[in-house]
Amino acid sequence: MDILVTGGAGYIGSHTCLELLQAGYKVTVLDNLSNSSEESLRRVQELTGKTLTFVKGDIRDRALLDKLFADNDFNSVVHFAGLKAVGESCQMPLEYYDNNVYGTVNLCMAMRDAGVKRLVFSSSATVYGDPASLPITEDFPLSATNPYGRSKLIIEDILRDLFASDEEWSIALLRYFNPVGAHESGMIGEDPNDIPNNLMPYITQVAIGKLQQLSVFGGDYPTKDGTGVRDYIHVVDLSIGHVRAIERLQGHKGVHPWNLGVGNGYSVLEMVEAFRSETEQQVPYKIVDRRSGDIAACYANPEKARTELNWQAERTLDDMVRDAWRWQSNNPNGYGHN
Ligand code: NAD
Ligand code: UDP
Repeated sequence: MDILVTGGAGYIGSHTCLELLQAGYKVTVLDNLSNSSEESLRRVQELTGKTLTFVKGDIRDRALLDKLFADNDFNSVVHFAGLKAVGESCQMPLEYYDNNVYGTVNLCMAMRDAGVKRLVFSSSATVYGDPASLPITEDFPLSATNPYGRSKLIIEDILRDLFASDEEWSIALLRYFNPVGAHESGMIGEDPNDIPNNLMPYITQVAIGKLQQLSVFGGDYPTKDGTGVRDYIHVVDLSIGHVRAIERLQGHKGVHPWNLGVGNGYSVLEMVEAFRSETEQQVPYKIVDRRSGDIAACYANPEKARTELNWQAERTLDDMVRDAWRWQSNNPNGYGHN
């Protein structure tokens, strides 16, 4: 079965391409490489011993999309392509709406015209805003606090409207919690362009000496130790969730939100301690002011994905920190020259 993967050279996309190839799918990646390198896909092919097709291009290029759909026999699209930095989205909201919202509309138009109506979309737990209680189930109210989150929410709404207009569509809204870690080979992983915004790559870059110390954003939240609590999920577990979603969409029309999380919350200080105890690397840190827009705590109830997708996260917190560190220490400069 042929799958188009937009944004497949990126962090989650490259791990998902690996799982798709291993599951026997034929994979075509469309990526403009704005936040990634083709080297990730070279390594995916090396690891699997299988080949995929890479097309450098943009999801906003309608002519390119039409040609791709005409030349291939895609059965489903897994759509990762987009911009993802919350802070940047506040500085450049128009670029975020153009890339994420317009890009997705353009992709869906090309899919509709080609008669391909199966889509797995990368949504985010950010669509739950600041939840009134925990753990979060898929029927919680949705809201957004920044342009990035709003772009995901708008896309979810557009996809619900699309299905309401044509019930032939099968759409997965995969609401990721906090993806971390890397493939256990240490050959593919997260390769932030700049100083990382996310906790885990920040920790690994402090440990390797590229950054001096971790700033812990807030020590006065109403949580177990005052620092923010999140549901960290190993990127390989998350990627396997996409393969299960594609399988489930066959024969299940509709718009299906699924939480992809572990179901446990860990604080920032627990993450630092897990990293230290598993890798024996010290991570100097300092507690500073809260980061604007952050919430105290967020973790999933992943029961719907367990029952409907036959999926649950299997990798532990120790696996997550160990694999993140293996990737970072084997590739101190990511996919650049080491
Ligand atoms: P990433 O930046 O590593 O991957 C995104 C990929 O899309 C990159 O390879 C980039 O070059 C490509 N891309 C961006 N705009 C494009 C365009 N217009 N046309 C073609 N390619 C384009 O990010 P990621 O962490 O792998 O995230 C993948 C998806 O998951 C994103 O949609 C993101 O919003 C979503 N998500 C990520 C997280 C997270 O913490 N990483 C959490 C929730 C949701
Ligand atoms: N965090 C932190 N220092 C950092 C980056 C993140 O203390 O340099 C905290 C952040 O406040 C949150 C948690 O780590 O409580 C996860 O943040 P991340 O940006 O990785 O993901 P988010 O949940 O915000 O999408």
